Amino acid sequence: MSNLFILRNYAQKAPSTIPSSILFSSSARSITIYDRIDGLESLKTLLTHDKESAKDVLSALNEDAQGVKLEIEQEMQKRYGFKWSIWIGFHGAPSMQTKKHYNSFHPKLGFFLHIDDVLSWFDSEPSYYNEMVKLDQKAYEKLLKEDLVCWKCEAQMKNIPTLKAHLQEEWDKVSKREKGRTERKRKLEEKQTSEIGDHSMDQHAEKKVKHDDEYTS
Ligand SMILES: [Zn+2]
Repeated sequence: MSNLFILRNYAQKAPSTIPSSILFSSSARSITIYDRIDGLESLKTLLTHDKESAKDVLSALNEDAQGVKLEIEQEMQKRYGFKWSIWIGFHGAPSMQTKKHYNSFHPKLGFFLHIDDVLSWFDSEPSYYNEMVKLDQKAYEKLLKEDLVCWKCEAQMKNIPTLKAHLQEEWDKVSKREKGRTERKRKLEEKQTSEIGDHSMDQHAEKKVKHDDEYTS
């Protein structure tokens, strides 16, 4: 069964019948599933519909996806204490499992089309819109053959294992930095709370001195 059929199958089911290991969330307009299936093949198909209805569908998808993004970010914040970038978008062409699979999700390479960019096509010059919606498969596939490059620091990577190790380092760096930041914030708050405490004690002591003065005079 091709990926598209699997996706269509899920889309036709009542969300309540989709196993929770597959379904992340659902709304009246869309379902979000964990990424078990590679590449949604329908952007080009969607863009062959009339412009207005394609835009409506994309805007609705974007709205739902933003909600899901927020949920994932909250989960990350809870679990790791920081957020890692999340991108919402489409593949420029159907992507197959190749060793350059990573490139299909690289946020700056061009194969991965951010939904905000796709939505901006609708408000651009008609000639630009018509050019973009062609989604020239060959041109996009070429991008997958580009060298592996870290999406954060743009360092070139020899192969997938090297890239994975490097991305782990990037993650650890952010994690360490964010932990340090949280710790500094906590210490500062602690200091401020104790300063407020000291201050109110000072006032108390001052009053007591005054009080004592009254007695001695
Ligand atoms: Zn890097």
